[in-house]
Amino acid sequence: MSHTPTVAIVGSGPIGSAYARVILESNPGARVVMFEAGPQLTAVPGESVRNIADPDAKARAREMSQGPQSGAFRESLGIPAGVVVEGMFTARQGTHLLDFGGPGSAHAPSFPAAAAATNVGGQGAHWTCAIPRPAFSEKIGFIADDEWEELIEAAEALLHAQSDAFSDSPIGSAIRSVLHDEFGDELPAGYGVGTLPVAGDPQPDGSMVWAGADTVLGPLIEDGTPESARFELRDLALVRRIEHEKGEVTGLTVEDLRTREVGFFPADAVVVAADAFRSPQLLWASGIRPRALGRYLTEHHVVITTIALDDTRMSGLVSDDEFSAELARRAQNAADPVAAVNRIPFSEPDHPFSLQVMYAENPPFQLDPSHPSAGNRWGYVNMGYGVRKHPRFEDSVTFDDGELDYRGFPNMTIEYALTDAEQPEIEEATARLRRAGAALGAFVAEPRLLPNGSSLHYMGTMRMGADDDGTSVADPWSRVWGYDNLIVGGNALIPTANTMNPTLMSVAIAVRGARRIAEQLAERAAERTEELAR
Ligand code: FAD
Repeated sequence: MSHTPTVAIVGSGPIGSAYARVILESNPGARVVMFEAGPQLTAVPGESVRNIADPDAKARAREMSQGPQSGAFRESLGIPAGVVVEGMFTARQGTHLLDFGGPGSAHAPSFPAAAAATNVGGQGAHWTCAIPRPAFSEKIGFIADDEWEELIEAAEALLHAQSDAFSDSPIGSAIRSVLHDEFGDELPAGYGVGTLPVAGDPQPDGSMVWAGADTVLGPLIEDGTPESARFELRDLALVRRIEHEKGEVTGLTVEDLRTREVGFFPADAVVVAADAFRSPQLLWASGIRPRALGRYLTEHHVVITTIALDDTRMSGLVSDDEFSAELARRAQNAADPVAAVNRIPFSEPDHPFSLQVMYAENPPFQLDPSHPSAGNRWGYVNMGYGVRKHPRFEDSVTFDDGELDYRGFPNMTIEYALTDAEQPEIEEATARLRRAGAALGAFVAEPRLLPNGSSLHYMGTMRMGADDDGTSVADPWSRVWGYDNLIVGGNALIPTANTMNPTLMSVAIAVRGARRIAEQLAERAAERTEELAR
């Protein structure tokens, strides 16, 4: 008799999905069950809502992801209507603020824009799909370069990375040319102005089908594949507790939000990929409380502006025919506003920033028709510098056993501050943004630092480390120190100071962890089979 190793995964975002895919492809004997607190939004599980063409259906999908703030659809999460109070508001479409101000709200006055998404596919159903590679000190020091390179390539394959999306857009190319003239001489070889790598599949008409958790899951959600027979996704299934005994995880306590029934699900290994706030909260609620849990919170700060592209500069670089052809092509896919994506990547020592430049026909906000830049013929760029936050123990999310949140978990308090380590780089990034803006056209919005939490890229709260010295939660294979079969995943694992979108890096870390646990389970299954045969 053989034993089928079962892995339970908490959270259905890109990271939980990467674990499911790599485990099932690496271990043909394993089975994976994924638990997701939110509802399934699209017929294909985990698809990006940006691919939904109908604006009403897209708005509905976003509303259903907004947890306690999801209006008429909040019942889909099983949160009683009485818990929801007037005055709650959402952050970015598809997400919900953690500190929403009603009963059961988190406390985050110093990190007010902290937000999450609660749906199949997680934030990965709403993301912009930018996947730059981490560079220099952004990478993890204790993973060797050649291994890291291979992990990043595996992550890029899972996310369908495109390094030259929209590269044939003449306006995108003109923007690169202007930025190169302004900054090119100051940037090291290989780290100059270029296109921003994104996740998705380019279509023959020049548009993109954006990647979501569905892309990562791949064969697991295709009918008739061997992997799909060993994979199960349960939506509206809220994991309440990780059960464990003597350093060994035994399974999960799960609440079915449709029926309110609570039951135990036995598992040989558990992967917690429930975002950088709710994963450490679940560990805390389960009595797993390493010293660094919730500590060393970082994000990359963002200084942004919006520019109306200058007529003279653009018409010197793009012919009328090229411009008309681009407008005609874009009109075929009016639902997707992004028309070109450029960047200047992080490099050290002189450019510790990531600049992202998104080009669109319309500004990202309503512009008064009387504004001199309203209806700008050449369109607009929305661009921002990502600035790093140096990790500190005191920047943290902590949990209070004496005060439950709206889901019945120990409530969160976030404490966070920018210090003298960040301020000079924020000032330098603002100065560079002014230069970039002045080179490209007229400022429609002044450069400004977004409120803490706005990046949506929360890192460090379950950081990985080389040693169990109290400054990390997980070992180099993402296993919680002291627990061989409890794995954590997501941006929370990133221990470094980052300026860029972290999902690619977190998928790379997940690939490493998934391969290891798949191997570990295969070894254990063989041992158990041998024992049973004796
Ligand atoms: P998530 O995608 O957050 O998924 C976690 C899931 O866990 C959620 O669905 C949640 O409901 C579920 N969960 C939580 N608690 C429980 C529980 N107790 N039981 C069961 N389920 C639970 N990143 C980039 O790299 N590039 C970008 O361009 C980019 N743009 C973004 C734009 C937007 C608008 C947003 C919202 C995010 C963006 N991000 C971007 C961030 C990116 O989406 C995240 O890095 C990524 O989704 C993280 O994946 P994850 O699987 O770790 O977590």
